Amino acid sequence: MSERTLIGKTALVTGSTSGIGLGIVKSLARQGANIILNGFGDAEGPKAEIAALVVQVGYHGADMSKVPEIEAMIAFATETFGGVDILVNNAGIQHVASVEDFPVDRWDAIIAINLTSAFHTSRLALPHMQKKNWGRIINVASVHGLVGSAQKSAYVAAKHGIVGLTKVTALENATTGVTCNAICPGWVLTPLVQKQIDAKAAALKISNDEAIKLLLGEKEPSMQFTTPEELGELAVFFCSDAGKNIRGVAWNMDGGWVAQ
Ligand code: NAD
Repeated sequence: MSERTLIGKTALVTGSTSGIGLGIVKSLARQGANIILNGFGDAEGPKAEIAALVVQVGYHGADMSKVPEIEAMIAFATETFGGVDILVNNAGIQHVASVEDFPVDRWDAIIAINLTSAFHTSRLALPHMQKKNWGRIINVASVHGLVGSAQKSAYVAAKHGIVGLTKVTALENATTGVTCNAICPGWVLTPLVQKQIDAKAAALKISNDEAIKLLLGEKEPSMQFTTPEELGELAVFFCSDAGKNIRGVAWNMDGGWVAQ
């Protein structure tokens, strides 16, 4: 095995019990970073997978829509791991409806989880990074941080917002060893997207495979999903020495979606 590049660092990845977050923690752990998992559902499976990569692993079940729970999670990171060196703001949810029909509670939840939580984790994690003069904040935005799609008002607003937060966080720390960047995936086949495939298949009375072809064909010229593993490797690159002067970018990995 080549030398592991993130030994001695601690990474907190929100929403890492599933999908993209789980892909990112695996890539960071392969480089030797200690991992704090967060998210709902089964945490024991992901915990065992990370421990097998011979790093320390912790879990905190904070709900990213609740500020006191976010504060408790960062306090746990400080007490148990000495602070967060790599913060990946990844937790996110989706709801699809037109503006006039959009349930107000879904709007509030999407803005809280997909945008506001990143402000809270960042404000709480930054002092430790600034003190060490080394840190990486990676915000998992989306192509929807760069372009819009019908029926996704809250999601597109939150993702555009997190791209803005990324730029400001990067600028405020630009003369330091702390960087902040966003990753903007196109379609990734996770539970979040499978729900949209299921809805399409049911609405059009077509098979899962046909619904996938339609979904990709509408937006993604490569006709391929981006994978959590590929996104994990991009996160590792942002954490590398070569990434130290990448500041405030919104890097799409989207099969050509926004090149059109
Ligand atoms: P997913 O549903 O597989 O995972 C979401 C994770 O967030 C889970 O671990 C879940 O438990 C956690 N989570 C949800 N609500 C939470 C809350 N209130 N508090 C704490 N954790 C919570 O989804 P995914 O596709 O892996 O999405 C991860 C991120 O990637 C999201 O921000 C999403 O917007 C973004 N994204 C996904 C795609 C895609 O195609 N799947 C594309 C672009 C961006």
